[in-house]
Parts: sequence; structure tokens; C-alpha cells
Amino acid sequence: MELACLDLEGVLVPEIWIAFAERTGIAELRATTRDIPDYDVLMRQRLALLDQHNLKIDDIQAVIATLEPLPGAADFLDWLRHRFQVIILSDTFYEFSAPLMRQLGWPTLLCHRLVVDEQGRVVDYKLRQKDPKRSSVQALHSLNYRIIAAGDSYNDTSMLAEADVGLLFHAPQNVIDEFPQFQALHDFPTLKSAFLAASERSLAL
Ligand SMILES: [Mg+2]
Repeated sequence: MELACLDLEGVLVPEIWIAFAERTGIAELRATTRDIPDYDVLMRQRLALLDQHNLKIDDIQAVIATLEPLPGAADFLDWLRHRFQVIILSDTFYEFSAPLMRQLGWPTLLCHRLVVDEQGRVVDYKLRQKDPKRSSVQALHSLNYRIIAAGDSYNDTSMLAEADVGLLFHAPQNVIDEFPQFQALHDFPTLKSAFLAASERSLAL
């Protein structure tokens, strides 16, 4: 039994916070863990900025609804779902990703969640578990699935290492150099071929 696990941002959709910062023109929202390594500090800053600009969850989702999956991503996902059970393992939030997941046909997504009050203010966030991507692959292994996983960044590497086959997709050069054990692919046609090669079944393109 085989299962495909995909990262979301950078693989199927743009980096949501960065795209959101661009759409809203709130430059400080462009900060990532590269600028503020402590994730909690970064998230508290993001939530404070949403408040400061009086952005409620509906406003946020309306902006995100103007974003689109990466070119070719919806077709790729459709292709993959015809050949594998697919689970998306992401460090995004359900409330943030919803408008994009709608455009992808609501695939199964395991991620985190925002805490929204009755007025629609985003007041907090809840991470699902520690090291969620690796833990998810471990859990799926315990269900006797063989896992082929693809992701683009540092937060994916523990998932890729835990998987039976780990693939880098759209990864920046520093990640490719640091993790030469993972095959690096740069476009959807070669990613499809890599999934077929990684499979133990004889699947056709
Ligand atoms: Mg990513």
C-alpha cells in the first residue's frame, strides 16, 4: 500500500504569508523564520499586525481567495490522486489555506489551526503537534503504508527522511546542497516521473 505526502506552500501554492503581505501591502508580514527564527515570536508579530490593520478572518480569507495555486499544480494533484492516496502535510493553518484548498478540490490536509474569536479576530494559533510532518509519516507507517513524500524546504526534510522515498521539489539551492540524499526536481513533469519511479507498482504516466 502506497501513499503520497506533499508539502503545500512552495509545492502546490505560493508562500501564503508572503503572498498575503504582497496583496495587502503590509511589508512587515513578509517576515519569515529566516528573519525571526523563533516561530512563536514570528506568529505573535503576525497576529499583532493583523489586529493593527483590523484584518478579521473574513478579510484575510477574501484576500487569500484572490491567490491561485501554482501553474500546473491543480493538474498535477489531480494526476497524483488518480494513482496514489494523497495527504498534504503542511505547516499552514486551515483557516488560511481554505480558499486555496477549494481551488485544489479539497484534498486531505493535515496542518495547524488559528483561534478566532466571535468577532472574527484571530487571537491565537494552535500547532497540531511537535515535528508534525515527521510524526505524520511515522503514524502512516504504523498503518503499513509505504510513503513517497515531496517538499521544498527545511521544514520538510524530517518528513522526507522518514518517508521511504523523499523528493525535493522547487527547493532553493542551499537546501539541495545541504540534503544531497534527496533527488531534486524542478517541474511537474519530472516530479510525476519521480513518483512513478519511486512507486513499487507499475503505473503509467
Ligand atoms: Mg513549503
